[in-house]
Formats: sequence, C-alpha cells, structure tokens
Amino acid sequence: MKQGWEAVIGMEIHAQLATATKIFCGCAVETGGEPNANTCPVCLGLPGALPVLNQRVVELGARAALSLGLEIQETSVFARKNYFYPDLPKGYQISQYDRPFSANGQLTIMTAERDEHGRAEQWQPMTIHIQRMHLEEDAGKNVHEGLPDVERFSYIDLNRAGTPLGEIVTSPDFRTSWQAYDYVNHVRRVLQWVGASDADMEKGNLRCEANVSVRKVGEAEFRNKVELKNLNSVRFMQKAIEFEIERQIAAHEAGEAVNQETRLWDEKNNCTRVMRSKEDAHDYRYFPEPDLQPLVVTSEFIERVKREMPELPDTMRDRFIEVYGLGYGEASQLVADKDLAEYFETVARFTANPKLSANWILGELTRELNNSGKHITKILVTAEDLAVLIKTVESGAINNNQAKEVLAEMFGSGKTAPEVVKEKGFEQVSDVAAIEKIVDDVMVANQVNVDAYRGGNEKLFGFFVGQVMKASQGKANPGVVNEVLKRKL
Ligand SMILES: [Zn+2]
Repeated sequence: MKQGWEAVIGMEIHAQLATATKIFCGCAVETGGEPNANTCPVCLGLPGALPVLNQRVVELGARAALSLGLEIQETSVFARKNYFYPDLPKGYQISQYDRPFSANGQLTIMTAERDEHGRAEQWQPMTIHIQRMHLEEDAGKNVHEGLPDVERFSYIDLNRAGTPLGEIVTSPDFRTSWQAYDYVNHVRRVLQWVGASDADMEKGNLRCEANVSVRKVGEAEFRNKVELKNLNSVRFMQKAIEFEIERQIAAHEAGEAVNQETRLWDEKNNCTRVMRSKEDAHDYRYFPEPDLQPLVVTSEFIERVKREMPELPDTMRDRFIEVYGLGYGEASQLVADKDLAEYFETVARFTANPKLSANWILGELTRELNNSGKHITKILVTAEDLAVLIKTVESGAINNNQAKEVLAEMFGSGKTAPEVVKEKGFEQVSDVAAIEKIVDDVMVANQVNVDAYRGGNEKLFGFFVGQVMKASQGKANPGVVNEVLKRKL
C-alpha cells in the first residue's frame, strides 16, 4: 500500500446453514435437482401460506455463533426486508434487523502479510469484532445460461428460495487484504469444523462481500466506501480488495471522486467494475414479520448446543501443545484439518510418542497426501497402520529410509507395515547371538586387522563394521553391531 495511506475494510459473509430442509418449510435443501422441484406454497410465497421456523436452523445457527465468539441473544425478531426482484416470490425476504440472533462477537484469528511469492511473513494474532450474525432465508436464482432462447427470456429457479443463511457482519477492523483473507478462511474452517455449514465458496454456500475505503493515516473520518460483490473464491476476494485499495488511493491523489457504489470483481480483466451506484440503493422498509413469533433461546438450549459441539480448533491446538508437547507450528498444521487432527490423536495414542507421530504425519504422510491429491479420510493407511510402522522404526527393526519406502508402498497398496517390511526383506537382524556369530567369523577371517586394531589402530573399527554389515547383507542392526564389535575387539 502506498505510504501514508491505510485501508478500512469490513466483511459480510453469508453462510448457508447445513440443514436438510429449508428455514420456514419442509422442502429439501439440495443442489443440482430439477429446477423448481423443491418448492411448496410457503417458499413460493403463495397467498395464505405461513412460515414455521425449522428448529435445526436455530441449533446450527447457535453452533456458528458460539464458534465465532458471538453472544446468542435471548430474544431475536424476524423482520421483513422488502424489495422487488424476480427471484424473490414474496416481494420480501424474511431476515432479522434490529434484534439479531447473535451479536457482540470477539474472534481471534491468526494473520500474516504475504511476500511477492505469496509466502506468509510473520503470523500474529488479531482480534476481530463481529457485530452480529443474524438468521435469514436465501432468495432463488435467475438463470441466464444454458437454456433455450436465453437471449429473450430469463429463467427462475426457486429451489434455493428459503434456504437458511447466517449473515456474519464485522466492524471495519481490517487494514489489509490479507487480514480479510485470513479472516474468511478462519470463518470457513470453523463453520465446517462445528458442522454449521459446508462453507464451500465454489458451491456458493459461503458468499462474502467486502466494504472497502481508504484514508490518510491518522485521519479519523471514513471516506466513501465501495461494496465488492461477486467474489467467488477467497483468493479473488483478496485480489479484488487489493485492486480496489490501489484504485481508490490513485483516485484520491488525482483529486477524483470515489463514489459510494457496488462493484464486481472482473476475473478476466483482473479489475473491479461498477455494478450499481448509491442512487439505486434500496429502502427496505423493514418491519417485524407478523407471521412469526419472536425467537426465544433459553440458556439450557445454549448449554446443550455447547455440550454437543466438538472441541474448537484453537482449543485443540493449545491442548496439543500442552498435553503432547508439540510446537505451535506443528499443532497449528495438525488442526488445519479436523480429520487430520483426529488421525494424529489416534496415531499418538497407539505409539505413545506424540512428537514422532506428528513428525511422520506432517512429513512423509503429508508428502504422500500432496502427491496423490487425496484427503486424509480417503487413504488406505489407517492411523493404526501408521502407528505400527512408527513403532517398527522406533524399535530399530528398520531404519528411517526403509520406513519411508515402506510408507510409500503402504500408501499405494493398502498393505500393512509388517507385510511390506517382509516383502522388501527389510527386517533388520537385531538378534545379538546371530550378530555375535557374524562378528566372530569376520574376526577370524581378518586376524591381521584384529591385531592391528588391538595394537592401537582404532581407525580400523569402521572396517569391521563394514565387513559385518556386508556379511549380513545390510540387515544387521548397526547399533547392535557396534555394541558387539566393541565388546569383542
Ligand atoms: Zn417450501
């Protein structure tokens, strides 16, 4: 960013809550079905149809709120947000306005600026103020592609109408595009972790908007802000914010106006474009939804939701550090994925050596995962299998390089460690009696060198080790060989 300027960024995230049915009716929530198949009088907005709140929405909303450090309000009120658009059959969206489901959130994320290669510089904690997360229904979709006569007609698919959303709004706390990027990734991961949302931006079940303005460092007032939409991935969002910061600074410096407007990210041309100006802004004429009671949430309900929630990633990371003695970096990498974290815990339990287990998982196993593009839940090596391999290395029966080869084979074939070790003939001879016999033979065959060694030429020790290893075809355990040779020589 240009010296003397700072950016002011606030984020809004719409997360689809992972329910089986819609928020105010029993229609299924699913993607890819026959257009308008999942509809009924309620979500079509037919006269006389009444909404009934889906309890599961409240449970998942509570999970989302708690995982983001928000306070769930005892009473929240649904409100009608009035506007006209073809994908909104009722002419209003049921949302929440002045009394949202949850508010006043404090969320600590880890964030870092990136160098020109996209590498993180210095990770540090940052506390974000989340103003609110309210519950609302989604609209349907206008379809402009892939159907007959799309030049002349717009098509409407209302399968999505009435899908439950949580809208998460932050204060304008972010100063760089990477802070916003790390925040959205944090929210995505946490929502997936607690099962509140699939939070997949490509599938559209997590959508984000950024409000961006710039000002001179030290200025207290905010200047005009631009709302960025159509951000289909976290990376595009980061690029769009970055572009917008530079565009606004250049405009201010040139004495040009920065208009309060909505802009889209143009992926092809790597820039933002005007979608609509402030003049088109809606007056939504909110008023309380007369067909729904205020939503009252008891403390017992909140306690139950808390009990049913999995341990959150940050809590788990701190526990890994404290209980297993892992470093901050290792623990963070493990909890980056809930399944990976659970896999690690199982391996650590079997090996009783958490540090070594973490090394194997973050080293060799992660390499295999990256090479194959597979997720931890889709691999043939079970946590128990890996634990057996790690114990085999620990016992000295095979060495580290052999173990890496064994793991690669296990990964590809699904065979167990003992099977692969046997097949490859890797089993080391650690049997002292067997090694003593080889040492004896080597000493008899090399009497001259034995005499020289005993006469003070200690450099010959390596020669004996080499001879014994050769006689055992490389299978003798080097530790045992050393010990026996020292004793006998
Ligand atoms: Zn319906």
